[in-house]
Order: sequence, then C-alpha cells, then structure tokens
Amino acid sequence: MSLLLIQNLVKRFGAITATDHVSLEVEKGEIHALIGPNGAGKSTLVHLISGLLPADGGSLQLDGQELIHLAPHQRVAAGLSRCFQITSIFPKLTVAENLLLAVQAHQANSFRWFKVRDKDAELKAKAWELAHRMQLESEWNTVAGTLPHGAQRKLDVALAIAATPKLLLLDEPMAGMGPAESEEMVELIQQLRKDMAILLIEHDMDAVFQLADRITVLVYGKVFAQGTAEQIQHDPRVQAVYLGQ
Ligand code: ADP
Ligand code: MG
Repeated sequence: MSLLLIQNLVKRFGAITATDHVSLEVEKGEIHALIGPNGAGKSTLVHLISGLLPADGGSLQLDGQELIHLAPHQRVAAGLSRCFQITSIFPKLTVAENLLLAVQAHQANSFRWFKVRDKDAELKAKAWELAHRMQLESEWNTVAGTLPHGAQRKLDVALAIAATPKLLLLDEPMAGMGPAESEEMVELIQQLRKDMAILLIEHDMDAVFQLADRITVLVYGKVFAQGTAEQIQHDPRVQAVYLGQ
C-alpha cells in the first residue's frame, strides 16, 4: 500500500483548472519530485495536500486514512507536514526559540501562540536535535530574521520536521540559494529520507535528479508524465516541453 495515494484531485479557480484530475502515489521512504513549468499547478497541489485549499474533487489518503475533508492541523496530526514556498519562520525570535515553539506546538497539536518554555530540558533536547539535523547548532542563539537565506530555509525545514511527519512536503527548498547552499540542502534532504517520505517541488534539476526516486511532471494542471527519475530524464516528450526550455 502506498503511503500517499492521490486520486483524481481537482481544483478550479474560476475558468482555470489548476489541478486537473491529478493522481499520484508516494511510497514509504520515497523522494517523489513534482516538476513542471511555472503555473503548472505544483503549489496548488501542495496546498490541496496540506489542506490549505479545499479540493473540488478527488481523494487523498495517507497510510490508508482519507484526509480530503480534514483541516490542515488534523492532517499534520495524521502525519503530513510541509514547508511553504515562502519561508515561514518567526523572524524576531532566535533559532532556539523557533525550534522550541515548533516542538511545543507539535506536542499540543495546536497552532495557538505559546510562551517559549526555554527551561524545559526535554523540550530543549528535542529542539537541539532538530538544530543538529539541519546543521543549525552554531546558529542556536541567532535571531532568525538575521540568518543568511540558506540558513532560514534550513530552519523552515527544521520547523516542519518537528511534527515528525510520515510525509514531508517541500515547495522549492532550494529557491534563491547559491550552489554551495543548494548542495548542503541536497545532503540534508538525503539524510531526512531515512525517517520520512518526501514530496519535493524543485526547479533545480540537478537537485531533482540527485534526490528523486520517481518524478511526476505537471503541465497545465495535468499529469504529463510519471516515472522513475531515469525514465523522466530520458523521456523525449518531457525534454521537449520542459527540460529543453
Ligand atoms: P506552480 O506552482 O506550478 O507555478 P500554481 O499552482 O501556483 O503553479 O498555479 C497554477 C495555476 O493556478 C496558475 O494558472 C495560477 O495563476 C492559478 N492560481 C493559483 N492560485 C490561484 C488563486 N488563489 N486564485 C486564482 N488562480 C490561482
Ligand atoms: Mg509554485
């Protein structure tokens, strides 16, 4: 059984069908990349999966549980976590405070405002572990908004994995990064896959082909091609519409 099973998902914005009967499966331990030109519907699909947008049709199951009618926080509790295309850290708090809040929010399964409990040793250990996984230990006391862009993205991923998801949704984690930062992010994502499946939206094709087991290509809201990274890389149709651009 697939970890994530999406069947015939539909989303319309007026006359535009941004998601046109999309079906895809993500297996346990898989990194599945979602690629396609701008406006293909990649972010919309992630919003439908996380519950930020309601779907107009179709089904979405995680580990056999139907999620389509659940609110975003209920989907997080079911094992889905996401990073936005735009970073969503608390810029005025330190890295430590951001991570402590994420761990506290996960434990309470709530998104209401918390006071940071920085004296709680168990919480602190969990937050430190997240910093360690995303190689942010040296930035522990840095105010998040002052971090370089790449480190802010790493913190964003750290906040998402605080929920210990079965499936992590990453919308362009390398966006705006230089080559060295991208390479580091590829390595960190490679480490994460030991504990969770990942649905990865990414424009950096080097990163996609390094990381992805399978790839779904979206064009105008529809699945244009689907296969192993190897198959997609050598598919002349895909090269024509997308990779050759
Ligand atoms: P991608 O992430 O692949 O670049 P999007 O999912 O952002 O694509 O957009 C897919 C299509 O849906 C585009 O035509 C976009 O203009 C449209 N769209 C996305 N969000 C909205 C919205 N909230 N209202 C209206 N149209 C939208
Ligand atoms: Mg997008």
